[in-house]
Amino acid sequence: MNEKRLLDTFLEYVQINSETRNEKEMCERVKKDLEDLGLRVDVDMIGDKFGSNGFNVYGYLDGDPSLEPIILSAHLDTVVPGYAIKPYVKDGRIYSETDTMILASDDKAGVSAIMEAVRTALEQNMKTRPVEIFFSVGEECGLHGAKNADYSKLKGKMAVVFDMGGDIGTTCYTCPGQVNFEFEVFGKPAHAGIEPEAGVSAIMAAAEGVSNMKLLRVDEETTANIGTFKAEGPTNIVSNYVKVIAEARSTDLAKLEKQEKEMIQAMEDACRRHGAELKYTTARSYNPYKLTPEDKICSLLEKCYHTLGCETHYVRSGGGCDSNIHNEHGIQSVGIGIGMCKAHTGQENIAVEQLNKTALLVLELIRA
Ligand SMILES: [Zn+2]
Repeated sequence: MNEKRLLDTFLEYVQINSETRNEKEMCERVKKDLEDLGLRVDVDMIGDKFGSNGFNVYGYLDGDPSLEPIILSAHLDTVVPGYAIKPYVKDGRIYSETDTMILASDDKAGVSAIMEAVRTALEQNMKTRPVEIFFSVGEECGLHGAKNADYSKLKGKMAVVFDMGGDIGTTCYTCPGQVNFEFEVFGKPAHAGIEPEAGVSAIMAAAEGVSNMKLLRVDEETTANIGTFKAEGPTNIVSNYVKVIAEARSTDLAKLEKQEKEMIQAMEDACRRHGAELKYTTARSYNPYKLTPEDKICSLLEKCYHTLGCETHYVRSGGGCDSNIHNEHGIQSVGIGIGMCKAHTGQENIAVEQLNKTALLVLELIRA
């Protein structure tokens, strides 16, 4: 493996603008880089489904057909603001020059490590298992690239998503699924001073509904939160409209479904008691997944970590990633830590050593 080349690739990729929904330049670049390596490359033009100019990129390295294929997964988009990022290296870590531009090690570190490992494997004529590379777009704005991906282009049944915080060895065996709610409560306006009894207060109904919900830390695996509670009007009119926007997450599908039902029930009951009308929508953003150390992708990872002298740490994540979508498609997939620190903040940084270890891990994973 060529550490200098890896670092150069990373610094270069970071400087290619690819804020989520504006990934085109980065997509074209990695497509070309994979083609230059001699890989078969495919794309799917799914960007217009979610307002992006980008596309998913697939790369294939044939490898030994008697071995089980592996999918190497990372995303090409970055969070906003991530325009004209100027990275620099100091004391073995890489930072962004200004804390108003986020470094984008999330997930350019994953992308560059995969590239370097494949480049090295080819240079050394290394024997590999069949390798499928999946670089997605629109991850940061809601896993849209993976959600719209053409999974018939992926034959592998196990995947590693190089896209989490924590050092190499950190293995996210479970990620929550998420449900998003939008409640609209319609009251009945009346003069609040002259005949309040003729009115129905949307605020009172919605507030009661919310206060009867189990929220925040519901149990070890489940959380829920109200993000918006919006009502506005003069004090002399009984409130006739409230909008409530909420979410629930759980790493257990049954618990997520129960939480979803209970939040709707709480709002329905309160609206009925007050005589308010309720309209709501819920949408499952993605389903949870939960693997165990016995699952084949986890034992393969453990073996590779061990070879690199790293310990395995199983962690549970509070947020979803492309791994959720892979698992929905019957691919056993985990997200792993690749050393990124304080991702999505102006202080985001990554150790050069972790970048190197990630590339070494990819080499171990694909080695026949
Ligand atoms: Zn990410």
